[in-house]
Amino acid sequence: MKRLATIAAAILFLFSTLATPPADGYLADTTIPIGGGCPALDRWNLSLASPLNRRWSTSLPLAPTTLLTVAAQNSAAQLTEISQAISDSFGAWTGVTGTTFNATNYPGMIAPLATIASANACTNDAENNIDGLNTICFNQSSMGFTSGVLAFTRVITANAPGASVGSGLPAAFAGQILDADTLFRNDGQASFATPGALSTSQGQGAYDLESLLTHELGHWFGLDHSAIWRAMMFPFAPPPGQFLGERPTAQAPDGPLSDDDRAGIRWLYPDPNDTVNIGAIEGRVVPANSFALAALPLPSPGASVTGIFGAHVVAVDEDTGAVIAGAFAGWSCSSSNPVLTFDGSFDIERLPVGHSYEVYAEPLVGLASPSDFSDAFDGLCTLDSAPQCTVPSVDTNFNPRIRPNVP
Ligand SMILES: [Zn+2]
Repeated sequence: MKRLATIAAAILFLFSTLATPPADGYLADTTIPIGGGCPALDRWNLSLASPLNRRWSTSLPLAPTTLLTVAAQNSAAQLTEISQAISDSFGAWTGVTGTTFNATNYPGMIAPLATIASANACTNDAENNIDGLNTICFNQSSMGFTSGVLAFTRVITANAPGASVGSGLPAAFAGQILDADTLFRNDGQASFATPGALSTSQGQGAYDLESLLTHELGHWFGLDHSAIWRAMMFPFAPPPGQFLGERPTAQAPDGPLSDDDRAGIRWLYPDPNDTVNIGAIEGRVVPANSFALAALPLPSPGASVTGIFGAHVVAVDEDTGAVIAGAFAGWSCSSSNPVLTFDGSFDIERLPVGHSYEVYAEPLVGLASPSDFSDAFDGLCTLDSAPQCTVPSVDTNFNPRIRPNVP
C-alpha cells in the first residue's frame, strides 16, 4: 500500500499487491493456465487439511520504532499483542458466513500463529527463493518499498497442476495460491499501531495495523481491489489514527469487512449449503453507439472488444440504499470455447436473496483509478513469458444512462 493522495485533509494510502488477476465479477486475481485457456481464479486449495499455513516474523525494527504497541517494546507481551492483531485480521475473513474457508472448517486459521525470528523471513524477490511459507514481516527491506509504499503483499500462484515452490506441495490446479507474504515498511517513513495503541498519545500519526493487515490478507485470499469506498479492499485505507468499520468481536468476527468484501470472499469460496447469499445479477455494459468501440486500441491476438471494459457496476439494496457489492464489467470466457472476449460482461454473485437491488454502472474516474486495479486487469492476458492477448485500456470515457422503456 502507498501513501498516495491527500483529500479533504485526510492522508490516504494505497494498498498494492504484486500478483496476477479477475473473473467477470468482482475483482479477484487470476492466472492463465500454461497451456492457454480461460483465466483461472487464484485461490487456496481447500481440499488440503491445512490449506493456508501462516507465520509471522517476530523480528521488529527498533530504531526507529515503527510498530507501536501498548505493551513495552521488546517484551513478550508486545509479541502477544501483535499476534492477537494478526489473528483478529485473519478472523475477519474466516468469520464470514456463507463460505467454506472459515474458522469452523479450518480452526487453524484462528489458532495462534507460528513464528520465526528472522528479520528477512519474507523473501523479497519474486524471482528468487520463493519458499512456499506464508509469512508476515515487519522487519525486512525490499525494493518494493518505493516512495510512499507502506506495505505490500506478494502472491505466487501455480500456472499448471503440479507446479510448486519451496517446501510446498505440488498444486492441484492452475491458479492455486502457493505462497503469500506481506511486508510492512520498516525504515521509519511510517508507523503502525495495534488497536490498543492506536488510541493512545503514542499512537498519534500511526496507521491502524489491523485495517492494513485485513486488507493485505484479502490479497492472500485471492481478492484484488474494490472500487467501493467503504470496502476493506478499497485501495485507500483510513488516515493515521483511524480505522475502518467495527473491530472484530467474538459475536461478529467479520466486523471490519463491508458487504462487498463478504460477497467477494463468498464468491471465491462459496458454501454449497448456503441458502441466503445465492442471488446473482449478470449483464453487459455496452456503448449505445457500437462504433464508439472502434476508437479503442486494437486488441489481441485472440480476443475481441465488443463491450465497455472496466466499467464499475454496483448493486445497491433498494430498501436500505446500502451498497452490497461491486464488480467490473469487462470480459467473459467459457470452458467450452476458452477464448477471452472483452464484451463488457459483469456478474455480481452471492447477493442475499429476498431483497431488491438497483444496479448502476459508472466510469472508473474517482479516487480509485484504473492503475489501482492494473494487476487484475493486466493479468487477464499475462502468461509467464509472452502475453496471450492484449488487455484493452479501461474505458473511462462514457456517460451512463438508463435506456428508456420502449413500448
Ligand atoms: Zn491492496
